[in-house]
Amino acid sequence: MNDFELKWLAFEITPRCNLNCIHCRTNASMNLKDKLSFEDITNTVDEISKEFKPVVVLTGGEPLLRGDLFDIADFIKSKGMRVGIATNGTLVNEDTAKKIKEHFDVASLSIDGSQSSIHDNFRGVKGAFDATINAASMFKKVGLNFIINSSFTKRNQHDIENTYKLAKKIGAGAWYMFMIVPTGRGEEISDELILKEDYQKILKWHFYMELEEKDIFVRPTCAPEYYALCDMEAKKNNIDFTRRNLKFSTGGAKGCIAGQKIAFIGYDGEVKPCSYFLRSAGNILKNSFVDIWHNSKIFKDMRDFQNYNKKCAACRYINVCGGCRARADAYYGDYMAIDPYCFV
Ligand code: SF4
Ligand code: SF4
Repeated sequence: MNDFELKWLAFEITPRCNLNCIHCRTNASMNLKDKLSFEDITNTVDEISKEFKPVVVLTGGEPLLRGDLFDIADFIKSKGMRVGIATNGTLVNEDTAKKIKEHFDVASLSIDGSQSSIHDNFRGVKGAFDATINAASMFKKVGLNFIINSSFTKRNQHDIENTYKLAKKIGAGAWYMFMIVPTGRGEEISDELILKEDYQKILKWHFYMELEEKDIFVRPTCAPEYYALCDMEAKKNNIDFTRRNLKFSTGGAKGCIAGQKIAFIGYDGEVKPCSYFLRSAGNILKNSFVDIWHNSKIFKDMRDFQNYNKKCAACRYINVCGGCRARADAYYGDYMAIDPYCFV
């Protein structure tokens, strides 16, 4: 099997959004217009399906604002791929939840705090928390699997554990803790980013929480050093640690698999190794996605571990961590540089 097979694709089908999140990578707003037509999207999906069968997650902006959303989902399924939706949940009522269940295999919701005061502050809209909790209960009612994604900065890091408990309580199948990487509106919050010392402490907390957690799947996302930390903690304390597999997994037992097993297509057609990545490797409006995947310099560099910075290339964790290439680029203007948050 090809080591670099596309397993998971995030497809940003609209830049429009009804929220105003402080960390938005897209700078999404209701004033923007869709740039990709139904054909632009489905032609790319069709091309990809001839070589790969990734899980395709439709995201935005808010994907529910697109009138042809369910037709796009049906098209993806007709090509033999599973399809997910990443929504902020504010537009979900019981009828929408039923429709999502009919057309999608999985949904993800974002909850960035255990209370409305924390979440709404982060999301920039009052009432967003209640609406998202309501969406979770609608998904539960119609029997749709859902995942909770939670993003953290200094502003809400004190609430990480409570947010995890909330995700469990409302019946999520998985909880993913995102460590924000500065891009989009996130650049303006770089001084809000969790400190490196705290980053390590949080990952350690996650490791011991994960050891005990038997009901739902948990994973820190965009924290590749977690995989090194798990090994170090397990060895140090003689712990037998085996990770469980997720049904809608990105397919890698490695901290960062950007450009190796996952990719991102932006609302403007730009193709990147992941959604936080600053640079584009090509554009589906001009180039073939499969050609970008195989031949673009950025995607090839992401797989060329021995040409990462010297510390990573010589590191015993290169095959399980690899560092965050987007964070290296945001800090040093070089995506092959050391991850500034590496504590190993
Ligand atoms: S490059 Fe960084 S932000 Fe992108 S998937 Fe990897 S860890 Fe996450
Ligand atoms: S040196 Fe690189 S591969 Fe090793 S732990 Fe640090 S970021 Fe990860």
